[in-house]
Amino acid sequence: MTIIGTSGLVLNEKLLFEHSAPGRKGYSLPKLDVPKTELAAELCREEISGFPELSEVDVVRHFTRLSTWNYGVDSGFYPLGSCTMKYNPKVNEVVARLPGLADIHPATPAHLTQGMLGLMYRLQESLAEISGFAKVTLQPAAGAQGEMTGMLVIRAWHEARGSKRTKVLIPATAHGTNPASAALAGYDVVPISSDGVLTLEEVEAHMNDDVAALMVTNPNTLGLFETNIEAICKLVHERGGLVYCDGANLNALMGIARPGDMGLDVMHFNLHKTFSTPHGGGGPGSGPVGVTAALAPYLPGPGVECDGKSYRLESVNESSIGRMMAFHGNVGIMVRAYAYIRSMGPTGLKHATEMAVLNANYVRARLEGVYDLPYKNRSLHEVVFSDKDLEGGCHTLDLAKRLIDYGYHPPTIYFPLVVKGAIMIEPTETESQEVLDEFCDAMIAIAGEARDNPELLHDAPIRSKVRRLDETAAARKPKLKWEEVG
Ligand SMILES: *Cc1c(COP(=O)(O)O)cnc(C)c1O
Repeated sequence: MTIIGTSGLVLNEKLLFEHSAPGRKGYSLPKLDVPKTELAAELCREEISGFPELSEVDVVRHFTRLSTWNYGVDSGFYPLGSCTMKYNPKVNEVVARLPGLADIHPATPAHLTQGMLGLMYRLQESLAEISGFAKVTLQPAAGAQGEMTGMLVIRAWHEARGSKRTKVLIPATAHGTNPASAALAGYDVVPISSDGVLTLEEVEAHMNDDVAALMVTNPNTLGLFETNIEAICKLVHERGGLVYCDGANLNALMGIARPGDMGLDVMHFNLHKTFSTPHGGGGPGSGPVGVTAALAPYLPGPGVECDGKSYRLESVNESSIGRMMAFHGNVGIMVRAYAYIRSMGPTGLKHATEMAVLNANYVRARLEGVYDLPYKNRSLHEVVFSDKDLEGGCHTLDLAKRLIDYGYHPPTIYFPLVVKGAIMIEPTETESQEVLDEFCDAMIAIAGEARDNPELLHDAPIRSKVRRLDETAAARKPKLKWEEVG
């Protein structure tokens, strides 16, 4: 008998037996017979054909080889702006996998899970302290879900006052999830065409009695600190609105400035960005939300509370927006974040911020003059160039593809939308000067290639497993079935 593995490979029964139950007495193969009655007869195979039968060594080599084709922060520099793809300490992975933390069933009663609840409580407290907010919920499963949570909290606050405001102001530099979250919370989005740093006048021009909130990102996606933030918050508050802060760029403020002290009312954290969880490819994430004391009653529940002796899950109160997750959120990521915060300590977190800002400014200083820098204001943790000065008819996409030939993951491109041909570089604090220099050398070399031999850029990548892909076709007409190549 042959058995199909999940990978579609056929495992030999004898091999499977020997390798899955070495030395176990009385072991018998699990019954794999699917009850035929559940599937129509014409859907059931009579016999399995066409699959290769392979030995273990062939299978191991196949998957090991495939695994080396991946590119991640463990293999090289990954300057993807807005995503904070920093190197994450491996010790956090070890901690998150401790059986006492990883194996708890989410429905286990509180008196048996005091350790995990205590960790969650202290993480809530740490995030509140770092951000300057009164209360934090850990429930949301990503930044985007945190945004929606925050906007629902804002909505609940307005409704409790009998106010029926319908609009949310969002600057043009915002991440696409901001308008999406505001819309999901039932608001009409009013874009503000801000150029660089948001001004009081730009907000004032749109502020009226219909506006429930302003959503800002600070520092914004151009890597610029919103220098008018206090005056803007004051204005929005005076007109009866609230201010939401997209906290995805907290890596530029942590330990130095607190959004809660700037007059902001709500903010989400991206634990998987700022607080060290490997991410990318869509997950996993955790997007806790911090709020002022006035908004705390509307947070989702249950949250973890402490009476000085023990921890308990506080049930949802009447004004709460309800649950955002079936259980407690992505606790594995909370464990990593807690391990990160505790192992770094206050001075370590501050140092990380200083290094993130220094590194971005180092890249900026080395590439300024080679690449067009549309905003001259001082950058924080990321820097945005454009392809305006790229010669030879080359554009941002060509540069990004050519970087692959040099062994780098390309930066974020064509975002933020306010910069034509944007190249958004976020080096993060975890890169050494040597790495940054090599990367900048590559960027400078590519600018030279564009001038002298632009075909190199147009044809790139030439050293990767696949050449330039038709990304639109790949998204619109995906081939989801395996086909034999050649
Ligand atoms: C990443 C990001 C988000 C969304 O966060 P997710 O965790 O990916 O859902 C929102 N805003 C900004 C500025 C971001 O960089």
